[in-house]
Amino acid sequence: MDIRSVNPAAPSDVVAEIASTTPDELEKILDAAVDAQLGWARTTPSRRAAVMGAIAAGLAASSDELVALIVREEGKTVAEATVEVIKSAEQFTFAAQLAYMVEGTQFPEEEPGTAAYTLRSPLGVVGAITPWNFPLSLPARKLAAALAVGNAAVFKPSPVVAAAGDRLVRIINDAGMPAGLLGLVQGADPATMAALAGDPRLRAVTFTGSDGVGERLAGSLHRFARIQMELGGRNAAVVAADADLKRAATDIAKAAFGQAGQTCTATDRVLVERSVADRLTEMLSARVSELVVGPGVRPDVSFGPVATAEQKSRLEAVFASARHAGCRLLAQGRIAEDVDPDGYWVAPVLYGDVPADHRLLREEMFGPVLSIVAVDSVAEAVRDINADGHGLVAALHTASLTTASRFARDVRCGLVKINGRTTGNGVAPPFGGWRASSSGAFPEGGRQAIDFFTETKTVYSTYD
Ligand code: NAD
Repeated sequence: MDIRSVNPAAPSDVVAEIASTTPDELEKILDAAVDAQLGWARTTPSRRAAVMGAIAAGLAASSDELVALIVREEGKTVAEATVEVIKSAEQFTFAAQLAYMVEGTQFPEEEPGTAAYTLRSPLGVVGAITPWNFPLSLPARKLAAALAVGNAAVFKPSPVVAAAGDRLVRIINDAGMPAGLLGLVQGADPATMAALAGDPRLRAVTFTGSDGVGERLAGSLHRFARIQMELGGRNAAVVAADADLKRAATDIAKAAFGQAGQTCTATDRVLVERSVADRLTEMLSARVSELVVGPGVRPDVSFGPVATAEQKSRLEAVFASARHAGCRLLAQGRIAEDVDPDGYWVAPVLYGDVPADHRLLREEMFGPVLSIVAVDSVAEAVRDINADGHGLVAALHTASLTTASRFARDVRCGLVKINGRTTGNGVAPPFGGWRASSSGAFPEGGRQAIDFFTETKTVYSTYD
């Protein structure tokens, strides 16, 4: 069974046709990974760090080609894809440092003459399964940390961005990685997926994707596999009455509509204090009306198409249900002239008067749509956020340090932004959601990645 990825701005443009990995091929990939991992785990940190550095350099050297591929296969603008390539290289630069940070602890001797200390060892072979919305930087965050601390990895990209996955693996392997250490599984053939999940050689899976697939995957994994899952988001931006409204409107529009809203950290609702709701609505409406959707290669567009035909039809169903429920269309952007009529275009929309139980306020939107809700206080907004099942990121715009500090303390999310966009994150701080946005005790990124990708051994050594 072949998988095929297409250009969402011109779906007749086929980007790649790649054969789906079969269970037999997976078996060989796992065998090779097990063999290669033993040697790799014993290499010095300086060797692993050097390879990580060479991968970062390889990504930077291929930047133009990678940007063009991401724009063509996933639909980002050139500016968005450029940021993604830079970020992907940075993940490997950062991971070079992780190679040196795998540390143990020495304990006081409870039995005189017997030293007790811990060693941390790589897990062995780990799986990395990723969605289409960041075809390079999401796999980069997972693979860089896993490989830097001595693991082998089996990487399964989304079929929607199969060519980008293939290119990333070639760049990594060309940078001096031992043969077989990084395996590539293409497609999502059910038999191959079941074989991967059930194979006891797979010591951990780091997954990013939808709630439903994450839940099914967690249920099918063998019971000794460690799990790290980054799932859906439903992210609010709260605007207090004392906020710099102009700056808040700019940040919110960027976080809601950048990348056609297809980021797990996108803002999908604004909770604004009632006294400034009209002014903020006016500012946001002006910004949304100026947005233009078109092919990511064109410099005059605000963002590109949505990535798949399924995304487009799902969002159209959301808009139809909003009309039916009497939601007020406050502002709408436009689709550029002269685009391919078959492209997956979705014009950005801003809604008000949304019933509290409508899907606009209850489901992950993952598209260029934003709703505004007036609230009586920041405390009410925090209660609303905490009542939601998801808990990835929440932002607050305020001039008050007290309001900001209380918000950061009280909101039940993995990431908090004060006077900033819900989107965007660094490579060194941990990244992860709470509650339904995650599953498993380990956030991604930062030094904490070592905890997920290694295990502890306690050694008692009697010398006297
Ligand atoms: P998806 O869940 O459909 O797919 C994710 C990956 O899982 C893909 O590689 C897919 O092929 C694979 N997959 C499908 N069935 C599988 C199976 N049975 N076993 C193993 N793997 C399987 O998600 P998507 O549509 O590609 O991406 C969009 C979703 O990703 C959104 O819900 C978004 O919120 C989420 N996301 C979350 C984060 C985060 O950090 N929290 C970041 C980006 C995207």
